[in-house]
Amino acid sequence: MSLLTVGSVAFDAIETPFGKTDKIIGGAATYISLAASMYQKEQKIVAVVGDDFPQEMINKLQNRGVDTEGLQIKQGEKSFFWSGKYHNDMNTRDTLITELNVLENFDPLIPDNYQGTEYLMLGNLTPKVQTTVIGRLKQRPKLIAMDTMNFWMDIAYDDLRETLKLVDLLIINDEEARQLSKVSSLVTASRIIRDMGPKYLIIKKGEHGALLFHEDKIFVAPALPIEEVFDPTGAGDSFAGGFMGYISQTNDISFENMKRALIAGSATASFCVEKFGTQRLEEISQEDLQKRIQQFVELANFEMTYQLA
Ligand code: AMP
Repeated sequence: MSLLTVGSVAFDAIETPFGKTDKIIGGAATYISLAASMYQKEQKIVAVVGDDFPQEMINKLQNRGVDTEGLQIKQGEKSFFWSGKYHNDMNTRDTLITELNVLENFDPLIPDNYQGTEYLMLGNLTPKVQTTVIGRLKQRPKLIAMDTMNFWMDIAYDDLRETLKLVDLLIINDEEARQLSKVSSLVTASRIIRDMGPKYLIIKKGEHGALLFHEDKIFVAPALPIEEVFDPTGAGDSFAGGFMGYISQTNDISFENMKRALIAGSATASFCVEKFGTQRLEEISQEDLQKRIQQFVELANFEMTYQLA
C-alpha cells in the first residue's frame, strides 16, 4: 500500500557543538521519504522547491521509489530555508532563520495518479496547506498522520486546530505537546490533545524515547543510548518516516502493529543523528537497519520473576 508524504523540501544550515554546515539539503518531507524508503518502495511526494534545488537530490528520491510528479519546481524562486543552532545538551535548539520563500504561496496540487493513496503523512508545513491536501484527496486514506511544530502554534494556532480535527494521528515532541495542551503532565496533555481530534498521539522525547497513546492504552519505546549524537536535525521526521513506512508496508493500523512501527521509527531515527543532515539516512543498508531494530528489541525485552512477601 502506498504512502503519500507532504512537507518541506528545503535547505538547512545547522550549528551543533560539533560543527557547523553551510546550506545543506533538508526539509521534513525529504527526511520522511528517505526514512520511509527503508520499508516502503511505493511512495509519492507533494512539495515545492525553487530552481535552486539540486536535481541530484530529486533523482536520489526517485531511485528510492519516490514518485516526484507532485514535487513542484518554481522557476526564478528560492527553496524554503531553515537554520538552527543546538544547545550543548543536543536536545534543545533555537531556530535562527525561517525563510518561507516558495512555501509562502504553496498550492499543493495532487496529481491524478496520487488519488487513492492509502496512507498520508503530513509533514511539518503550514496547517492550511495540510488541510487543503486532505480536502483534495477524493478518497480518505486509511490513516492520516501529521507532524507540526511550535512555529505554527505561534503564528497559525487557529488553522492548526482546524487541521487537528481532520487527522487520525499526531506526532509531536514533548515540548510541543506541552505548548499545544498548555499543561506540563504529558499524560494529561495526551488527553487534551486527543480531544482536539487525533485518536492516536505519539509524543517523542528525544534521547528518552517515544510514547504512543490511544484510548486508555500507552506504549513506551526506548531510544537507543548513542554515544555520539552529531546532529539531531530530522530525527523527528525520520521517526515519522520510519513509522509510516512500516505501517503502510504492513498495511495494518492496529495498536499492536503501531507498537512495532514505533520501534521501526525509533531505529530509523537513531541513524539520522549520527551525521549531519540526510547523510547517514542515505548510506545505511537494510542490514544496518535490521541489526539496529534487533538492538531495540533487546533493549526493551526482559523477563521478570518475583515473589511478593
Ligand atoms: P526535525 O529536526 O525533525 O524537527 O525537522 C527538521 C527539518 O524541518 C529541517 O530539515 C527543516 O528544513 C524543516 N523545518 C524547519 N522549520 C520548518 C517549518 N516552519 N515548516 C516546514 N519545515 C520546517
